[in-house]
Amino acid sequence: MFDSSFVSHLEGAIDGTILPARTIQTTHEGRPILVRYDLDRIGAAVTRRTFQGRPQSMWRYRELLPLDDERFIVSLGETTTPLMHCPRLGERLGADKLFIKDESRLPTGSFKARGMAMAVSMAKQFGITGLVAPTAGNAGGAMAAYAARAGMDCLVFMPRDTPMVNRYEAALHGAKVFLIDGLINDCGRIARQAAEALDLFDMSTLKEPYRVEGKKTMGLELAEQMGWSLPDVILYPTGGGTGLIGMWKAFDELARLGWLDMDRKPRMYACQSDGCPPIVNAFDAGLRFAEAPPEPHTIASGLCVPVAVADFLILDAVRQSGGKALAAEEDRIDEWMRLACRTEGIGLCPESAVCVGVLERALAEGEIGRDETIVLFNTAAAQKYVEAIEIDLPVLDHTGPIDWEALSDSC
Ligand SMILES: *Cc1c(COP(=O)(O)O)cnc(C)c1O
Repeated sequence: MFDSSFVSHLEGAIDGTILPARTIQTTHEGRPILVRYDLDRIGAAVTRRTFQGRPQSMWRYRELLPLDDERFIVSLGETTTPLMHCPRLGERLGADKLFIKDESRLPTGSFKARGMAMAVSMAKQFGITGLVAPTAGNAGGAMAAYAARAGMDCLVFMPRDTPMVNRYEAALHGAKVFLIDGLINDCGRIARQAAEALDLFDMSTLKEPYRVEGKKTMGLELAEQMGWSLPDVILYPTGGGTGLIGMWKAFDELARLGWLDMDRKPRMYACQSDGCPPIVNAFDAGLRFAEAPPEPHTIASGLCVPVAVADFLILDAVRQSGGKALAAEEDRIDEWMRLACRTEGIGLCPESAVCVGVLERALAEGEIGRDETIVLFNTAAAQKYVEAIEIDLPVLDHTGPIDWEALSDSC
C-alpha cells in the first residue's frame, strides 16, 4: 500500500522550469513536461529486493510511478513481457547475443498499453471523465480499451490509412472514431480543438506527463530481467519517442538510485523508415530539433510521425548514449518482418522489422559488434498488421490424386 507517491515536482523539459505536481498539467512552452521523484526517499524506502516478491506487472515498480493512490489504478493486466534470446535470427544477422523483448503480449497487443494504463489511471485520480487523442494506430486502440475499463468517454482521430485492426479495436472498445484525410499531425491539431470544444483531456503523445512514465517501466523491467545490468545496445522503433525517452529516464533514475551493478548505459539506436525519417535527418545534420520530411509514408504506421514535440529529448538521449538515429529501407520492411517471424516464431510488427533492417546494416558495417549484447523491442503484434504483408496461398485440388512429389518440391 502507498498513500502518496514519491513525486517531488514536475519539470518543463525544454528549460527546466519547476511545475507543481498533483494538479492537471499538459505541456510547458508547447513542449513535454517530465515527472521528477525524490530519489533519496525512494532509496530509503525500498531496495531492489523489494520488487522480487511482487506480481509480474508494471505496477511492481510503483515507487517509481506517479500515482498517489493505488485505488485509481486502471488495469487490464499489464504483464511483465518476455526477454527472449534469438540465436537463429542472430545467426542470420551476425549477432551472438540478440534478444527480443516482446511487448506484443500486453493488453491490446502493443506496448502502448503501458503508457495508457499509467495516463488513464492518473486521469482517473484527477477526476477526468473524457479523453481525446490522435493516433497512428495502436495508441487509439489502447486508449479506447483503458477508457472503457475506467468508464470514461473516448474520442479518437486517425489517418484514413490507419491499419484496419486499429480502426476496429478502437471502435469495438466504444471510442468515437473519426478518420481524417491527412497525417497524424493533422489529427493532433483536430484533437487539440476537440479537447477545448468538448471539454476532453488531450492524451496526445508527450502532451501530458504520464504516458512516458508508463513506458518507463520497459526500461525498469529490462534492468531487472538482466539482473540489474543493461545491454550494450538497444534498438527501438521511434515515432513520437515516448518509449526511448521513457527508457532513458528509467536508466537515469536507476543509476541515481545506485541500483545498476555496472554503471554503464546502453547505446540507444532510434530506428526509423526512410519513408519518414525526421529524427535520423536531424541527427545526421547535428540539429537539436527535427523538421518534417517531405511526403512522409510508411507501412510501419507507428513510425509515421513527421513532427514530434519531444524531438530534442529523443536526440539528446541518443547522443548522450553514444548511439545513433538510423533509417532502414521502407520497401524491405516486409522482408525483415518475414525473416524474424520465420526464424524465431515471434510475431514481429513492421515497426520492429525496421530495427532488424538497421541492425543488419549496423552489424555489417561494424557499428555494432557481433559479441555485444543487443536488445530489440517488438512493440506490437504482427497479427495487427494484415495489410503490411501480401500472402498468396495455393489451393490444393483434393478431388483427384495428390502429386506429393510436386507438393514437396514447392515446400
Ligand atoms: C507508437 C508505436 C511506436 C513508436 O512509439 P514511440 O515510443 O512513441 O516512439 C513504435 N511501434 C509501434 C508498434 C507503435 O504502436
